This record gives sequence, C-alpha cells and structure tokens, in this order.
Amino acid sequence: MERRKDTIIFLLKGSAVYMAKKQFKAESKRLLDLMINSIYTNKEIFLREVISNASDALDKLYFKSLTDKSLSDVKQSDLKIKIVRDKENRTLTIKDNGIGMTEEELEKNLGTIAQSGTLKFKNELVKDNEDSKQQVDEDKMSLIGQFGVGFYSCFMVASEISVVSKAAGSDKAYIWTSAGAEGYSIEETSKDERGTDIIIKLKEDTEDDKYSRYLEEYTIDNLIKKYSDYIRYPILMNCEKRVPKPKDDKDGSKETEYEITIEERTLNSMVPIWKKDKKDIKDEEYKNFYMQKFMDFDEPLKWIHTKVEGQYSYSTLLYIPSHVPYDYFSKDFKKGLELYSNGVLIMEHCEDLLPDYFGFVKGLVDSEDLSLNISREILQQDKQLKIIAKNIESKIRSELASMLENDRANYEKLFKAFGMPIKIGAYDGYGMNKDKLKDLLLFHSTHENEVPLNKEDDKKETYKSDYTTLKEYVSRMKEDQKEIYYGSSETIDKIKMLPQVEAVMDKGFEVLLLDESVDEFVLQIMENYDGKKFANVSANSIDLDTEEEKEALKKVNEESKDLFGFMKDALGDSTIKEVRFTHRLKNHPVCLTSEGIVSVEMQKVLNAMPDQGNQNIKAQTVLEINEKHPIAEKLKEMFKADNKEDLKKYTKLLLDSAKLIEGLPVDNPTELSNIICELMVK
Ligand code: ADP
Repeated sequence: MERRKDTIIFLLKGSAVYMAKKQFKAESKRLLDLMINSIYTNKEIFLREVISNASDALDKLYFKSLTDKSLSDVKQSDLKIKIVRDKENRTLTIKDNGIGMTEEELEKNLGTIAQSGTLKFKNELVKDNEDSKQQVDEDKMSLIGQFGVGFYSCFMVASEISVVSKAAGSDKAYIWTSAGAEGYSIEETSKDERGTDIIIKLKEDTEDDKYSRYLEEYTIDNLIKKYSDYIRYPILMNCEKRVPKPKDDKDGSKETEYEITIEERTLNSMVPIWKKDKKDIKDEEYKNFYMQKFMDFDEPLKWIHTKVEGQYSYSTLLYIPSHVPYDYFSKDFKKGLELYSNGVLIMEHCEDLLPDYFGFVKGLVDSEDLSLNISREILQQDKQLKIIAKNIESKIRSELASMLENDRANYEKLFKAFGMPIKIGAYDGYGMNKDKLKDLLLFHSTHENEVPLNKEDDKKETYKSDYTTLKEYVSRMKEDQKEIYYGSSETIDKIKMLPQVEAVMDKGFEVLLLDESVDEFVLQIMENYDGKKFANVSANSIDLDTEEEKEALKKVNEESKDLFGFMKDALGDSTIKEVRFTHRLKNHPVCLTSEGIVSVEMQKVLNAMPDQGNQNIKAQTVLEINEKHPIAEKLKEMFKADNKEDLKKYTKLLLDSAKLIEGLPVDNPTELSNIICELMVK
C-alpha cells in the first residue's frame, strides 16, 4: 500500500496495528466545530451541498471525457446521482458516478478548507472570534444557509461521515472517515463503480432535532424539489408506490386495497431554471439559485431573464449583486458570464460577453447553437457570440435605465456599489461609450433632490435622493444659466466649503459635487450634456458676472497692476500665472482658480497615480483676492507705504491659505509657521 508519509501512520507494535488519525487543518477544525455544535435551524441545506458537489463531479467527468481518450466510454446519459436511505443503520448515502477522488484529492479536498468559497465564508465567520472558540450567534449561522459551506455542512446532521471514492481512470478506491473534530483517516478499500459515495450516519434524534426525518422519502423529495430541482443529472431514489390490488369479486368490499411497491424515481425535474417559463419561477427560486450559484450571502438586487428566438436562439439569466464582491477591485476578480451549450457548461467566465463597465453583472448564457467543443480562441471570433454580447450590453443598459426611472432607490443602491465602473466606462477609450452611458450616471449636487420612489406608484411617494442625473440637472437650469457647474474635491463637505461653490450658489445656481477622482475626467471627456457645457466653479473661465461687473473689476485690477506684479514675483512660483482681485468671493479673502484643462483637483488625482509620467503635471493657477475684503485695502496700503518685507510675507500667507482651502500641500510648512508666529508677536 503506497501512502504519503504523513497520511496514515501504521505503527506495528507486536501484533497490534494502531492507526493514527490525521488532524484537520486549524481553520477547518474551527469550521467543523461550528458545524457539529450548530444550533442553526436550517440544517437541511447539507443535502443541497452534497448534491451540488455530486453534480460538479459529473460535470468534471464529462468535461474530461471530451478530450481524454481513456474516458471515451463515458456517456452523458449514464451520469447520475443516487440517494439511498437506510433506516436500520441510520445512514443517508449520496452516490454519484462522476470524476471521483484519488487518495491525495480526498486528503486535499476534505482535510482542509481548500476552496475559495469556503475559505471566504470562514473568514467572514471567524474573523471576529480570532482566539477563542466562541458561540456563534444565530445571525452568523444564518449565513451558512444562504451561502453554504460545502461538504462540511454535513456535520450539522452527521455523527460520522464516510466518503468512498474511486477516481476516473484509477483502479484503486479509498475511504475517508471522520466522526468530527478529532480528525479523519483514509484507507484503501474496494468499490466497483467509478465515482463517490458520501455516507452520512445521522445523529441521534433529540427533542429539537429529529434527524431521522432525513430518512423519510417525503423529506428528501421535498428538499430536492426545493434546492436541487434544476440539477441537470437525474437524482434517483427508491420510492414507495401504492398500486391498487386486483379486485377479488367474491369479496364484497368496495374499498380498493393497495399494495406498496418500491420503484426508482427521478426526484428532480432537471430543467435548468433559465429554461423554465418565467411565470413558473418564483422570486425565491431566482434568489436561491443566485446565492448558491454565485456564492453570495445576500440576495441579488435585480435579475434579468430573457429568452431570445430568431436567427440565434439563446437564454440569458443575469443578476446584479446588491454589493461589491470582496475581490472586485483586485486582479483576481474574473468578470464574465457562464456559457452553456444547451444546458451543458462550456466556459465558466466568458469575458467577451460583458463590457468592462458591466463587469459586475453575474449570470449565464445558454445557446443551443453553440458547439460543445468550441475552443476559447474560436469563441472570440464567433459571430454569434458577438451578437449575443451586443444584445446583452444593450439589454443591461435598458434595464438599468428603467430601474433608474421606476425603482430609483434600488438604482441608487446599485450606483453606490457599481457607479465607478460605469463612470470609467464613460471615460475609457476617449469616451467612445459616453453617449450610451451618460444617462446612467448619477452625481451629488447642491440641490436637494426629491424624486418619485416608483413612477408607477399611484400614491406618488417621493424620497430625498442623494443624487441627481444630468438630465434632471439640466431640467432645473435657470434661463440665464449657460453652463452646468461643478466643484470637485475629496469629500462633499470639502467641496461645499469651497468659496467658489458658495459664490455660484449665491447666484442661485446648482452645483454638482464631484467627490470621486474619476468624476471630473468623465465630465471633461463628455464636454457637454444636451449642448450645455460643463464648467468647474474653480476655473478661471467661469463666467458669472454681468458686463458692468466685469468692467468694474477690470478697472480695479488695472489700478493695482503694480501691486500684483510685485506679489507674483514675491511668490516665485511658476504655476501661479497671475495675482488679481475678484468679486466672486463673498466673505472669503482668497482662492485659487485654475486655467486650462487641468484643474487643481485633476492635478491631485494625476499626482496620486502610480508613476506614469503624470507627476509633473501641474494646474496653472491664478491667486484671486477678494476686492471687497479688508485684506485688499491692507495690501494696497502696504504697497503704497513701500512695506515690501511684510507685503511679501502676507502674499505667501495668502497663497498658502488658498492652497489649504483647495486641499493642496503647502510648499514650505516651516516657513508658513514662522511667518504666522512672527506676525502674531508683532
Ligand atoms: P466546494 O464545493 O465549495 O468546492 P466542498 O467542501 O463542498 O467545497 O468540497 C471540497 C472539494 O471536494 C470540492 O471542490 C471537490 O473537489 C471535492 N468533492 C466534494 N464532493 C465531491 C464528489 N462527490 N466528487 C468528487 N469530488 C468531490
């Protein structure tokens, strides 16, 4: 018997053979403890988990048989799952004739929590309970029901589990046995057919938990219908059948007597959910399918189920998650839809079916016209696939648009989670998709937006929205308003505090509050909405004044030309193009405005990016001083009195304050502090 050194140790002591148990890996043990001591009421999901593993094992075998000549005897029609109830021994066995597991695989798959989904669950569950084995509350346990923790969930109902498995292509079989946390053992055994038997020895019944119900035909039948109906392989079980006894005429009784016979029955309908008629599918079924299939704790926000008949026939079942997947912004995230050919999975992540900006959508496409053996390269060229992808993109877009219109609160939830990729989509490729996406964008705004909760709602309920669409903004624009105003900084509060924002609001105009780094880039690439240009309130070019006001300002600036020339030189900062008076600041003394396409905020974003040669990009700015603020008079006086030393210091202070307001670092904080203290003790 060939064994890995650390698997099972046989110790020969005289004539006795001791078999040492292997310990579970630490995190598996913890999860196991949790399962064994589970108080979770939804223990029944263990069956769903083993059935789905069995179905995966059948899929894997079929997949492999397409390319592996030694498995040419595998026929799709022979693949099945069987459930055997043994009341006498209190065992429930789930058998499959799938790919099976080798000794190493039994060790790897069942001795540790190897799979990412399971691991993720474990992390969520035990991250707060790091050091001690703690009672896990019902709340957290409920996650198990929604998510499933695979094989280990069997320990919620089992006192002992044996897994007998024979891998495809191998002539050896092994049995893995465990009674729980103490560990497990693996031994060689014999098994006729390829595949895996999971033998669950049910726990003894207690007051609260009647584990023996899992030996009843009725229970199993219901559980399969509830959770595993769509499994594409037959799930067979011996069931009782009542057949009328032939009537004996001599016997006067009118009542028909029945005989109980045993018959093997297929418990599942085998129709995948997406192939069923929409009207026959309950919301619950859609949700369950999503949570199980895509391993999400939470219900989806929305689903889109379509059947297309025509030149190409296909079905799609798409889901929008209600939250950002934990790995969404990492390089491990794989976008794409599952691709099926008439119910058989041919690719897990078909990237070409989704544009990046809808990469958060999960789901599948099933087409009868696709070949089973189609390779990845051919798929990319496939005309049919391209058409399907195009249709999917426009379907998602129109569904999102209608969600925005009719189910605003949920759309905002979606946008909070996935607004970023949609915005990037509008910007990417020099804005090639901007027109497609512009009406799906939401922005914060100074306007308190009251929107209908649901357009079809008779009660006309409204709610306060955090966002506005561009269309809504434009519809509120004043007659004399030429541009769509926006301010940008790291947070909404900071933007609202910008003096320039206050000035625009004072004129009665609405300002979009751009608090995400990509926002301003998106607006710049869009240039305008509905012919209305976007204008940064901090840009020099912003035009709010009347002709007289402009004339008056020009005059005061002209008068102080020399003062400003001196101040500009005193700063010695090449990015400050000019110093001048302004009337756009209400009570604030000073601000920085930008000139040209790079705003101060964009400069910050570009400089924060990994080095791509952006670091030297600097906004060209103008230091504007409020002509109506007492500081203006003070500066003029100093210049007149030739108090150059102090004027220099004041100028530096003004520039540094303007920078701080904009959220920019000051060049020389020590000098700033020294000047402040010097003036304080004067
Ligand atoms: P998950 O299903 O999330 O991967 P499980 O704990 O349910 O995690 O199972 C762990 C692994 O054990 C599976 O990924 C699979 O490789 C293997 N496995 C479980 N059941 C079977 C089976 N019936 N046939 C073959 N392999 C199986």
